[in-house]
Amino acid sequence: MIALKINANRLWESLDKINQFGRNPRYPEKGNTRLSLTIEDLKARQYLINLMKESGLKVKVDPVGNICGRLEGLNSQAPVIMTGSHIDTVVQGGRFDGTLGVLGAIEAVRTIHELGITPLHPIEVVSFTDEEGTRFGTGYIGSRAISGQLDDSVLKLKDDQGISLYEALKLAGYQPDLYKDCMRKKSEIKSFVELHIEQGKVLEENDLSVGIVTHIQGPVWLQVSLTGSADHAGATPMYMRKDASLAMAEMMLAVEKAAIEHSGVATVGKLEVLPGGVNIIPGHAQFSVDLRHIDKQKRTEMLKSFKKDMETISRERNVDALLEIKKEVDPAECSTTLIEIISNVCKQSQISTMTLQCGAGHDSLMMNDRTETAMIFVRSQKGISHNPLEYSSLEDCAKGTEVLMNTLLKLAQ
Ligand SMILES: [Zn+2]
Repeated sequence: MIALKINANRLWESLDKINQFGRNPRYPEKGNTRLSLTIEDLKARQYLINLMKESGLKVKVDPVGNICGRLEGLNSQAPVIMTGSHIDTVVQGGRFDGTLGVLGAIEAVRTIHELGITPLHPIEVVSFTDEEGTRFGTGYIGSRAISGQLDDSVLKLKDDQGISLYEALKLAGYQPDLYKDCMRKKSEIKSFVELHIEQGKVLEENDLSVGIVTHIQGPVWLQVSLTGSADHAGATPMYMRKDASLAMAEMMLAVEKAAIEHSGVATVGKLEVLPGGVNIIPGHAQFSVDLRHIDKQKRTEMLKSFKKDMETISRERNVDALLEIKKEVDPAECSTTLIEIISNVCKQSQISTMTLQCGAGHDSLMMNDRTETAMIFVRSQKGISHNPLEYSSLEDCAKGTEVLMNTLLKLAQ
């Protein structure tokens, strides 16, 4: 079989068009802010629906707003080959994170349709609702619904304005009461393949346009709250202090130690020290921890070892420590069958590639619960992402999309 080509300029143009939503033309340096279910997102959704229809896809929007564009197969009852990603962004985000996976998938399926090919299995392009989690504090809303992992507690989460996810879905015209209907049975989906920018520097360092993901790290988010005693900075001798900030400093190093010892990654990204006076010993401190590993067992050990150190430090420093788990997503292993198919497609198209791990979270993490899953990565310039400077070249985006298209064709036959 010869490898087919997509229309790179048309893909580029669609990326440009969707990114008009959420960008202030007067401040292009501020990038794109298209938080889920906001007016910008809703306008982008309408553009997407029109584009899907124009591309020959039958569009259905499910109760939580997942937009599904379907290319019918010769056997309409056969399990679908699913592909897609998200179009919501973080605050002042980039133009490629998620959007490439949706628009690339539309371009791929559009090309298949235009060539007059009717695959055996139906192919569906899905734009998942709220992957980023910026607005309601938790992500993967759409892919959780499809994979049966959404529950009522998530719908109650509120944004900064006090609007709940449930209300936002209603306001957008969706039917959150029926969210359970979004779930697709395992037998309904044959495979899921997501095209995404790498958001790291591995492909760039290896001078490659395209990579194939083997593992996706799953994050655990913790919040640690420390309570000591807020005393006078001059009148309290060192041995009498219950300094919450010093306990926090030691615990931060314990986070790093746990990650290194277990070959994972860990980050303390948010700190708070109270009351926050130059001459007051901090009586309260709070910090976040993001722990990730490709192996769930090792991640649990990493968490245990941090917890043990945290307790020792809290005892020695006379400070109370409270640890809360805010989010826990299982890591995922991509399908070895799909990895092999994608690498064969790359060979046929004479596109050099490599396998790599994925550090960021994606809708694929959720879809992995339903079906065999794979991710195709496209090189990110300087690894920059979640930033207005996020960039992948037209050539790289086109190559990734071409690999996606030929993979979908193989799977759908
Ligand atoms: Zn993304």
